Amino acid sequence: MYLLALGRGKDFLPVFADTGHEHQLTYDFIRELPRLTGGPKIRWVKADFTGAIARKRKFIAKNWPGDGVPEDRIARALALLHPSGIPFLDLCLLKGRFPSTMARFCSQELKHFPVYLQVIAPFLEAGHRVMSWQGVRAEESPRRAALPVREKTEEGLSTIRPILKWSWEDVFAIHRKHGIEPNPLYRLGCSRVGCMPCIHARKDEIRNIAHRFPDEIDRVSEWERLVTETCKRGLSSFFSHDKVPGDHQGRAGIPMPDIREVVEWSRTARGGKQFGFASMMEPAQCSSLYGLCE
Ligand code: SF4
Repeated sequence: MYLLALGRGKDFLPVFADTGHEHQLTYDFIRELPRLTGGPKIRWVKADFTGAIARKRKFIAKNWPGDGVPEDRIARALALLHPSGIPFLDLCLLKGRFPSTMARFCSQELKHFPVYLQVIAPFLEAGHRVMSWQGVRAEESPRRAALPVREKTEEGLSTIRPILKWSWEDVFAIHRKHGIEPNPLYRLGCSRVGCMPCIHARKDEIRNIAHRFPDEIDRVSEWERLVTETCKRGLSSFFSHDKVPGDHQGRAGIPMPDIREVVEWSRTARGGKQFGFASMMEPAQCSSLYGLCE
């Protein structure tokens, strides 16, 4: 979107919503873009759950004892439930769970709301009309394929999706046109460069992330511990219960697999029992799913 707007000579305000759950290479890529292109500085926005977490602390102290939650668990939850300043983690601490396919509150709370509240709404309130370009493509998901190219709200916000019909070849072509190397994660086997990992990550993506970026798995594992210890059920995992096959799917009370168990499963072949051939092979140094390495 940045390169397209730049090429069209538009005067625009680029905005990036930081979930706090992106890979460092993505942050570096975004920081470098204005310097490499001579384009405008990118405005970073972040959701802030400080006030909401403070209210949740009061709620826990007041209501959990009456709900039969043991005293030591309440004390432990209150000791750990503090804003970290990492939007993704704080949102999960607040909700007492991770997002899932059925409860996909992450993109709304971490991207749409901060961009709207911190950037778009102030312009609208000042009486401006706002044209918001969104960089989504129909190829990415059936949900995105169903989106219109243009939408307008009564408040004066026009949403336009100029690259909705673009193929991934078009995306890399515009990088070449501007002499910009794509986000390096694309050469490291990632098919998308959003959250690391995304709640929708496929089996092969999880395997790739675990192999190349084990620190990211450690980080999410620690997040699982924090959310588990601060939620009322005392049970929470990053991926939803249907991510991997097993008895936990049919019987309540069997703990859901945590991210380390999901990583183990990602290394298995179909059926989830035997280790797959792919998991025994070192991924190549450069392994773009889009043929960027050839
Ligand atoms: S990239 Fe995935 S995990 Fe991140 S906000 Fe979007 S849906 Fe949620």
